[in-house]
Amino acid sequence: MPTLPTHAVAALGVGALFGGREVPGKVWALGAACAMLPDLDVVAFRLGIPYGHLLGHRGLSHSLAFAAALAAVLTALFFRRSVPGLGPWKLALFLFAATASHGLLDAFTDGGLGVAFFAPFDNHRFFFPDRPIEVSPIGLRRFLTGRGLEVLRSELQWVWLPALLLVAGRWGLNRTAGSPSRT
Ligand SMILES: [Zn+2]
Repeated sequence: MPTLPTHAVAALGVGALFGGREVPGKVWALGAACAMLPDLDVVAFRLGIPYGHLLGHRGLSHSLAFAAALAAVLTALFFRRSVPGLGPWKLALFLFAATASHGLLDAFTDGGLGVAFFAPFDNHRFFFPDRPIEVSPIGLRRFLTGRGLEVLRSELQWVWLPALLLVAGRWGLNRTAGSPSRT
């Protein structure tokens, strides 16, 4: 997996495609949380659930169905009325995309098993043909004593930079749209 902050940053990049400055910050924070959530499944290792199991790491919690269900539940529970700048459907789509971005990024990493995108219907694990992102060791100690710097470098290049470019692009659009007309 990429590191958790990197998943959150990816969600913010996704958010830049969806809305402008009128969207409350809590919406972006929720999207970032959704993007980190799937890795709670590492608890499966402690519970003795095998990696390749449907409920194992990168299994059901990393699937498109999980992302859709989480987005639907969160929108129905907390955002029945639209938030400024995002109607309910667009908000649900953002939360889906933020959550699904997690599995997509994992499928670009160079280690572990692939991602069960189509669970619970199909537990086949997928990787993309090109996997430029260095996989992060599970656990802080292994990260700090292992290939941590290498992982960070590849995440900065392949996730943070594109996400920041998207956010900067959105910021520029907002400024242009918000500046008073000179004609
Ligand atoms: Zn993951």
